[in-house]
Amino acid sequence: MLNGAEVYQQSFRDGLKPDAALTVSEWADEHRMLSSKSSAEAGLWRTDRTPYLREIMDAMSANNTIQKVVFMAGAQLGKTEAINNVVGYLISVAPGPALFVQPTIEMCKRLSKQRLDALIHETPCLKDKVAPARSRDSGNTMFSKEFPGGILLLAGANSATGLRSAPCRWVMLDETDAFPVDCGEGDPCALAERRASTFSRRKIILTSTPTIKEASRIEAEYQAGDQRRYFVPCPHCDHFQTLEWKNLKWRDGDPKTAAYVCESCGSYIPEHHKSEMLRRGEWRATSTSSDPRTVSFHLSSLYSPLGWKSWEEIVGEFLRAKNDAPLLKTFVNTVLGETWEEEIGAKIGAESLSERAEFYPAGEIPNGASIVTAGVDVQDNRVAIGLYAWGSGEECWLISHTEIYGDPAGMKLWSQVDDVLLRDYPHEGGGVIRPVAIGVDSGGHYTSEVYTYARQRQRNGVFALKGQSIRNKPPIGKPSKVDINYKGQVLKNSAEVFPVGSDTIKSTIFGRLKHNEPGPGYIHFHAEAGHEYFKQLTSERQVVRYVKGFAIREWKKKASDRNEALDCFVYSYSALHYLYMRYNRNTIFQQFERKIGKVVEKGDKDELTSNKPIESAYKPPQRRMQRPNSSFVTSW
Ligand SMILES: [Zn+2]
Repeated sequence: MLNGAEVYQQSFRDGLKPDAALTVSEWADEHRMLSSKSSAEAGLWRTDRTPYLREIMDAMSANNTIQKVVFMAGAQLGKTEAINNVVGYLISVAPGPALFVQPTIEMCKRLSKQRLDALIHETPCLKDKVAPARSRDSGNTMFSKEFPGGILLLAGANSATGLRSAPCRWVMLDETDAFPVDCGEGDPCALAERRASTFSRRKIILTSTPTIKEASRIEAEYQAGDQRRYFVPCPHCDHFQTLEWKNLKWRDGDPKTAAYVCESCGSYIPEHHKSEMLRRGEWRATSTSSDPRTVSFHLSSLYSPLGWKSWEEIVGEFLRAKNDAPLLKTFVNTVLGETWEEEIGAKIGAESLSERAEFYPAGEIPNGASIVTAGVDVQDNRVAIGLYAWGSGEECWLISHTEIYGDPAGMKLWSQVDDVLLRDYPHEGGGVIRPVAIGVDSGGHYTSEVYTYARQRQRNGVFALKGQSIRNKPPIGKPSKVDINYKGQVLKNSAEVFPVGSDTIKSTIFGRLKHNEPGPGYIHFHAEAGHEYFKQLTSERQVVRYVKGFAIREWKKKASDRNEALDCFVYSYSALHYLYMRYNRNTIFQQFERKIGKVVEKGDKDELTSNKPIESAYKPPQRRMQRPNSSFVTSW
């Protein structure tokens, strides 16, 4: 019995031997079985089903001189199975040490349990080579699979430990745009690729759906390569062309009418021609690679084979996404396989926003809105409160933005805050609405005051929050208990503080500020919102900062500018997501709509207005010297 190190040594030596002259696609067509568990088309793999994958997979063949393959792609193209074929091929045909990197260790576990176990189990020639993970001394664990002449190691890009493993001839990097910029010891891609540097016949493949322009690894890698595009012939005029989104047409907003228009003869190409077009298609380089041993491929979901993702589905997805920047970003990334350009901030100015103000009265909830949330920003000498109403599709209305000057350490200011938050607002359609979720920022100098305020008003929907300027955080996260008060005492019914993904929400808001038509995602402003409000709302810009060569986008404001209106809006939006944790997100607006209706029809107004004032219960901590209690309120 060999120990791990000996197995490794053996496989390292075997990795230097010449390989059989079989290509990856030939191996797959002969041996690869698709599992009924993971594939809609179970049975023997056929490269003919996805002809465009042949050249990509074959570039990974052992006897091909290409060392690095980059594949930037949309969804539903068979990308995952293509990598599985490479894994099966290397185990079966060209064994050697191999490293397979996923964005996280968690994803490695899933890959191991679902994809790899199915791949090995269902493909007879692999089953013989890799012992089941359960059997003792099989050399098989969640993160490593031994086979004659080699070993496959799995590593998460979020952990430097796995990436620092011994030299590997085969390196596969999956979903690289989801890799962290730095895994603790630098760029995880570079770290993993370095593992292969000792092998002259190394084989590296990077695949991903792209994300944001300038921050996308896969796009940078694609551009460094020879940028191959798949050219397919027009069935009418035989002109070879790449499939472009701009040439997919439909009529009357009906996805069923989707057809492709030939860029040369202008004829409509119905989708049933696609199989033949794909079969006759060919990859053509559109650039010169900086390294002749690197090839790069780009493919959008427009090429997805018949029966997978249709042009009709794609048009449908676009129509659902077109008015919502975050959805549109997903569409551009996962369907078109392209990076998303966020020019947000740059194009939205205070002037253009104030021009679209509407004539509805401040402080009244317009028809269409059924939920009111609030966001509260606490400064050293004032509190700002943004009140926003929400309707189906998160259509949004500014109700009021109020600034109350005073001392946050004193009781008077907070009771004035209550006057704004814990009261009913008239609804245009009759009845009243009270803010149901209220997020208060605890990040300033008055943290314990905010905790106390929120704890005592929990039943009014008040919660303490802390903004996080980290990319890709959810609008609101799991709360943590705040057990200690300002005196260091542990409190009985402790307050909770909710992390709020400020950057995520700002991107959403700025995306939506670009909408031109009222409807889902649109933001309405009333005419009383003044220049100062719009100035504050647009006070931040996304700036690009480079960390180790990667662009990081961050929200920044000028030091002199005030941005409370934006913060209040952000917190108010997080408060809507606070409700999503408690109500069915699909029906929440209708649920609250019924509550307003109930008040009007049955006259049981008290049900919604029964929340007793709670000033009496509130004793703010006396920490600081009392400041002169001069306070005044401005409101828009
Ligand atoms: Zn044509």
